[in-house]
Amino acid sequence: MTEQERVIKDVITFAERNEEERMFDNVKSYINKIKRQRDNLRIELKKYQSNEKIAELENEIERLRVSSVFILNEKERKEEIKFKKEHREKCDSGIYHFFEATDLGIAVDVKCRECGVDKDITDYSAW
Ligand SMILES: [Zn+2]
Repeated sequence: MTEQERVIKDVITFAERNEEERMFDNVKSYINKIKRQRDNLRIELKKYQSNEKIAELENEIERLRVSSVFILNEKERKEEIKFKKEHREKCDSGIYHFFEATDLGIAVDVKCRECGVDKDITDYSAW
């Protein structure tokens, strides 16, 4: 091997090594980028899951608040919603609740504030 050939060989080896290192660095930075994305997604997922949990709890609180204020059971609640829905087609007004405590239980009527239409929504099966 001549001196010139040796120099050329060294230059090629050097260039190849540099190329490998550059490729390796690229792969490394790509992996790091993926890792960062993964970590960010984990944080997002946690946030999303806790948001979902909060929404779920808020719904539960709202449900408890509504049923405790009106002392309605599930069946009465459904009747109340049905009345509101059906009546909204005629007039768009709020409704009153009338409670009557009897020896057997609490009777409940709903009545439109505007036109006075009322309905007994008591669940007598619970009496
Ligand atoms: Zn009405």
